[in-house]
Amino acid sequence: MHMKKNNTEKVDRRKLISSFLLGGLSLPLASEENDTSLGQAKTKDMRNKNSLLWAVAWSETAAEFGALCHQAFNLATLRVEHALNQKKDSDKPLAIITDIDNTIIHAASYWGYLINNGIDFFDDALWDQWLPKNLITAVPGADDFLNYCHKNEVEVFYVTNRDQGEKTYEYALRQLRYMNFPFADENHLTVYRDTSNKMPTKTAISQTHELVLMLGDNLNDYKRDYYVDGIDERYSLMERDRSDFGESFILLPNATDGHWVRAIFGDSEPAPTDDNRSILMTAATRNAWDGN
Ligand SMILES: [Mg+2]
Repeated sequence: MHMKKNNTEKVDRRKLISSFLLGGLSLPLASEENDTSLGQAKTKDMRNKNSLLWAVAWSETAAEFGALCHQAFNLATLRVEHALNQKKDSDKPLAIITDIDNTIIHAASYWGYLINNGIDFFDDALWDQWLPKNLITAVPGADDFLNYCHKNEVEVFYVTNRDQGEKTYEYALRQLRYMNFPFADENHLTVYRDTSNKMPTKTAISQTHELVLMLGDNLNDYKRDYYVDGIDERYSLMERDRSDFGESFILLPNATDGHWVRAIFGDSEPAPTDDNRSILMTAATRNAWDGN
């Protein structure tokens, strides 16, 4: 995740984060709410009110979260098995494309860190500091599925959009190797730093391989069509393509971040402001009962 953003904004937020990290337990973030005389109490309050709590608690504790991941990879395995059974010797080699973050790599420690520190929105600067530490686990079922592909000579191509500066590619490749995922090499990893459009890789791989399916946690991993503004437009495009899900596109659950966040805020990494907290409230209550 976490496409390149406006550089000025990123630098400004980095300054905030640096002061935060150097300051130990003090929390200059969300400073509009932080009265130094009430520091500790405010911190606890901010943690308890953190809008990330339910999403992160669910993905950290719910067996249902794990089961949804297994369901996705079980279905992916069936699709690959079917493609292997259909394949003739003369056909192009089979391949799959997978996104990385929240599709095969689980970032629990990052989200927990945000909550422990009273941060209630995705934080790009902290993400960039956290990422090289490899404090990651595999998404349930990812290992078995990727190894199934490898064992059956179905090539796995990893495509991600990340930006941690010049070392972005190195960090991404190192993570794949750290996880012992198959095909962790430069022929199978594409990193887009300046765009979230992954479609050039899809086009290129489709020319040399029979693309069986794509794995992602974000509709944009699948088609650029979904890169639209607005919740309703995005939703209706998904409904237009409903027969593709579980077929050529296998979706993993992600309640914390993604393009759905951009549909709400107009920004996939919205700033932690009270305006944005109000926008989140409006989104959550758009179909609310009026009490009558
Ligand atoms: Mg992802």
